[in-house]
Amino acid sequence: MTDEEFREKYGRDPVKPGQHTKVKVYWDRIIIAIILLALLIFGVVKIISAIAGAFSGGGESSSKAEPAAAAAKSDSSSEENDSKEADKMQFTVCIDPGHGGDDGGAQNEEATRFEKDDNLALALVIRDELTAMGVNVVMTRDSDVFVELDDICKIANDANADLFVSLHRNSASAHFYGFEVWVNNHEPKADTQLAANILSAIDRVGISDNRNVNYGYIGDSQTNYQVNRQTHMPSCLVEMGFITNDEDNRLFDQNRDSYAVAIAEAVVKTAEELGIIDENGTRLIDHPYLSTKPQWDEKTQTYLTEDGVSVYADFIDPNAEDKNVKREDVKTQ
Ligand SMILES: [Zn+2]
Repeated sequence: MTDEEFREKYGRDPVKPGQHTKVKVYWDRIIIAIILLALLIFGVVKIISAIAGAFSGGGESSSKAEPAAAAAKSDSSSEENDSKEADKMQFTVCIDPGHGGDDGGAQNEEATRFEKDDNLALALVIRDELTAMGVNVVMTRDSDVFVELDDICKIANDANADLFVSLHRNSASAHFYGFEVWVNNHEPKADTQLAANILSAIDRVGISDNRNVNYGYIGDSQTNYQVNRQTHMPSCLVEMGFITNDEDNRLFDQNRDSYAVAIAEAVVKTAEELGIIDENGTRLIDHPYLSTKPQWDEKTQTYLTEDGVSVYADFIDPNAEDKNVKREDVKTQ
């Protein structure tokens, strides 16, 4: 068909092969136009958002932070105990994993297992449990380092901790077994209550033998473990079984996390029972909780008074003993 014939038949010029390049150029133009339009829309949106940002006073950083915070919120709300985690338990506990660094503490017969490692491993789980419950936790160490006993007590006292728990493991000949807790030999009620609650809690998890809450120092009731002497708050030293006994080691390894949960719950229970916090975790007293054991004076390295009048007497009350402690019988088993 000639061009003439084509025009006659279709009423327009035929499209020639060379003319297809015209179509290509046309598409190029459309693409360029689309890009220009996109850039224009982007620019307009930018300007509008900048104006909106200026009016809301937030700026870019806050508009970015909001979705991030919302995302974090929706993440945690999926957890079961979200409301429990969100609540603050308004008290401080000091957790002391005994020994550390060059001081390995007790060890098993083969010298393959050291007390310092067991104490730290347990303490870290207790810390995490308490922190998850909203308790403020102060650690005397959270790694394999040695801390002097004087410094351990100072850490707890300077932090105004309300309760103090020292974690240890016993050692003796292989036929000794069982779990026990040590308290100041003045037999302070609050300290005893903390010790008894912890021992009952780990006993419910399962221990080889309940060797009771004891007063003073092993083999000498006239003296005290330093952490039970120089700390101002109710304190106890927990002996988590004998590292020299295979069954106690097996129980420790098997139940370590359960013991940690039990100890954490016993600490919170004690804080409630002593009236440091109410059942919602709200603080009820406006000072660090004070043990009725004789109060140690850091500067003079002596007890402040013979009868144990508080070093905090100037801001609590000379009768701190009566104010602090619920006069309830303490169960020691
Ligand atoms: Zn020890």
